[in-house]
Amino acid sequence: MGVLKGEDEVVELCSDLIRIDSTNAGDNAGPGERAAAEYVAEKLAEVGLSPRILERDSRRANVVARIEGTDPGRDALLVHGHLDVVPFNAGDWRHHPLSGEVAEGCVWGRGAVDMKDMDAMILAVVRQRLSEGRRPARDVVLAFTADEEAGGTYGAHWLTEEYAGLFEGCTEAIGEVGGFSVSIDEARRLYLIEAAEKGIAWMKLTAKGRAGHGSMLNDDNAVTELAEAVGRLGRHEWPVRLTPTVRAFLEEASAALSVEFDPEDAEATVAKLGPLARMIGAVLRNTVNPTMLSAGYKANVIPQTATAHVDGRFLPGYEEEFFATVDELLGPNVAREFVYHDIAVETSFEGPLVRAMAASLEAEDPGGRAVPYTLSGGTDLKAFSRLGIRGFGFAPLKLPADLDFSGMFHGVDERVPVDSLKFGVRVLDRFLDQC
Ligand SMILES: [Zn+2]
Repeated sequence: MGVLKGEDEVVELCSDLIRIDSTNAGDNAGPGERAAAEYVAEKLAEVGLSPRILERDSRRANVVARIEGTDPGRDALLVHGHLDVVPFNAGDWRHHPLSGEVAEGCVWGRGAVDMKDMDAMILAVVRQRLSEGRRPARDVVLAFTADEEAGGTYGAHWLTEEYAGLFEGCTEAIGEVGGFSVSIDEARRLYLIEAAEKGIAWMKLTAKGRAGHGSMLNDDNAVTELAEAVGRLGRHEWPVRLTPTVRAFLEEASAALSVEFDPEDAEATVAKLGPLARMIGAVLRNTVNPTMLSAGYKANVIPQTATAHVDGRFLPGYEEEFFATVDELLGPNVAREFVYHDIAVETSFEGPLVRAMAASLEAEDPGGRAVPYTLSGGTDLKAFSRLGIRGFGFAPLKLPADLDFSGMFHGVDERVPVDSLKFGVRVLDRFLDQC
């Protein structure tokens, strides 16, 4: 095989991956990631790597491969992307979500931004570099995971528990939901690099009371008890807590937009940030949103039990405060249990890796500036961080000013500009030279 050009290959790789159905509906349902994993493994094997396909359950495949660096004394870098995508309703889309069609300058389909775009960029840059014989200085471990969209039970969490040895020597990582541009004006863009993630607490709440006839007096009604507790949680005004990453972001964004930053009134600052307000509003504080309610089976029967689900998210460093407040709001008569619970993560926005990300972005976009931000959701990084790895969201894309990028995650008409993919390949190539 001759020399491969990443910028030429990346669109086809992205389209191919989108055409492979790896929908993840949760609860181990769906076609699985096996076909996508085999595709990725073949592309890596073609340039001399020895990828391993690892499955916890039939068709729930992950791929891990290691590129040996030229300097064995250096710590390894993990580069990770997930292979699964969320479900879709094809009738709502302008181009079929499994078409991978290239139209209007974009690659269309489910996964085009979350995150088969980055998977394709990783493959493209690795294939080019290895076909040219350009190995990075440090070992680079590539991990393409299953099941990120349902919490990583068959993916990153399982891999890090059962195959920690594959990540030996990894101290730092890059992955998804960061590195994309937000336009300030024609000439200037901020590139948001994820340096922190909120933690997750999906909880089931249960109130137990005395069952009985709906016509009689009942001072121990489970539905009343639960409804009041859910109301208290949903209406609670959580205090603003400025974590180091959120503070750094507000300082940078305020300066770029010539807005005054008042740390004592962060909300007022956020309100002046325009489109950025939607992204950053949720990371000023812990949150709880009630999402499901269930009780009863007949209008004149008081049930013994009432349940609800809530989606809680806590900031790095504020988990204890979060649960203390939740328990206080629930009161003694409502029990909670976890449906899903995962940690918050945060790392400092400094050091050689951060400088390498910033420099490679700014070399390809002189009007760009890298800034750290906090993701209100979660990624596979949570699992990898348990191995002591500090990670960043860095899937570099220079985006047109008018593209509603954050609205495209799990959204309809998900698409990524072709030029953005090629930009990402060039940035990642520079980054691997410097990291
Ligand atoms: Zn994702």
